[in-house]
Amino acid sequence: MTDIYEKLARHLDHLPAGFPATESGVELRILRRLFSEEEAGIAMQLTMRAETPADIARKMDRDAGGLAPVLEKMARKGLIFRSKKDGQARYSAAQFVVGIWEYHVNDLSEDLVRDMNEYIPHLIKKSWIKHPTKQLRVVPVTQSVSAEMKVMPYEQAEEIISSQSKIVVAPCICRREHELIGEGCGKLMEACLIFGASAYYYEENNLGRTITQDEAREIINQGLSDGLVLQPGNSRKPSNICLCCGCCCQILKNLKTLEKPAKAVSTSWVAAADEDLCTACSVCVDRCQMDAITVDDHARVDPDRCIGCGLCVPTCEYDAMALHEIDADKHYVPPRNTVATYLNLARDRGLI
Ligand code: SF4
Ligand code: SF4
Ligand code: SF4
Repeated sequence: MTDIYEKLARHLDHLPAGFPATESGVELRILRRLFSEEEAGIAMQLTMRAETPADIARKMDRDAGGLAPVLEKMARKGLIFRSKKDGQARYSAAQFVVGIWEYHVNDLSEDLVRDMNEYIPHLIKKSWIKHPTKQLRVVPVTQSVSAEMKVMPYEQAEEIISSQSKIVVAPCICRREHELIGEGCGKLMEACLIFGASAYYYEENNLGRTITQDEAREIINQGLSDGLVLQPGNSRKPSNICLCCGCCCQILKNLKTLEKPAKAVSTSWVAAADEDLCTACSVCVDRCQMDAITVDDHARVDPDRCIGCGLCVPTCEYDAMALHEIDADKHYVPPRNTVATYLNLARDRGLI
């Protein structure tokens, strides 16, 4: 007989971001660590549409008064998403990544992290790399942008920050989980910038602290010093910006193992070195999180590995490194908003 965790796994796999099954069943072990049987049964009733406790209780043939505190407890545990309309809480399904996993940033154990490190390469391969729509994209650091590049406001972290009225910064779960098992890289820990409705969820769940736009810009600057790749949500109105390293970030780390990471990233830019200006100092090699640069008599960028993050540009003292548009006719325009991104993802996966 199919147990409740197998049913929940199937339910999560039918959400846009997916939760693909493995042969080992490690994903079921993860769900057992996170959800009680009762919580698993309730989570399966939720969709991406926000509903009141009364709506959900009706579907489940339960008493709304009894169900409401259970839903709120589940939201606080990071098992489902909570938003508010006219002061009233509404609940919807949380996807596994990005979602349930990130909501457990303050609630990690070594066993859970080891299971996740076993599972995430499978998830990235089956649900991230395979489909054209990604949940995150890469934007160039401002210091690498030149006047000729004609970047749009949604391609600049500072512009995205300028349009936010609510910003929360949360710890980076990828670096925290690596630190927990003795493999931390020591780079910026408070590195996930969360906006809008998600920011209120993070604040209410004590997952991060509310900051001003200026503080968010300062975090972006620290990220540049630490050599972190800017990955906003893949829409013109992103709900987050991640500042990621190639050693801990579960996405970049797994992309790095590919022969052509550039093909699995939503970006419009590629770096190239001017061989006349380049002194072969190799500073750019260490800046690159994708191992895209080699140096002999001058630096050479492998365009199949370059994800257009621009981190190698401002640290080149000789102005030899620059970003260029990959193809002006195919400049990447992200979906209008996060809902559109999820609809595209659901279409890619044949769910709608
Ligand atoms: S490495 Fe990047 S994707 Fe992972 S939690 Fe940190 S900021 Fe987010
Ligand atoms: S940092 Fe600049 S000068 Fe040094 S190797 Fe790279 S491109 Fe050449
Ligand atoms: S070469 Fe590396 S550091 Fe430079 S833009 Fe490409 S991926 Fe980023």
